[in-house]
Amino acid sequence: MTKHDHTDHESGIIDSDCLEAFDHVYAYINGELHDEETRARIEHHLSHCKSCYSRAEMERKINERLKMAEKPSPPEQMKKRLKDLIDGL
Ligand SMILES: [Zn+2]
Repeated sequence: MTKHDHTDHESGIIDSDCLEAFDHVYAYINGELHDEETRARIEHHLSHCKSCYSRAEMERKINERLKMAEKPSPPEQMKKRLKDLIDGL
């Protein structure tokens, strides 16, 4: 198994560790990454890879925004009234 000790970001070659982090970062942020081993690897990778770390941070921020923007579901009352209205026709 060949493995590069250091990642040369300017070469444009994506490290296989980066690809793995890329695949799992979303689940990791959402707390859906339940595999201890994978999670530990992602955490370790994020701690020393700046590009993946900033990507994770970005995902986290987008996530927060989405949660804040989530609108409450339409009130049941309204739906019922609408249904009654239609039924009454
Ligand atoms: Zn990386």
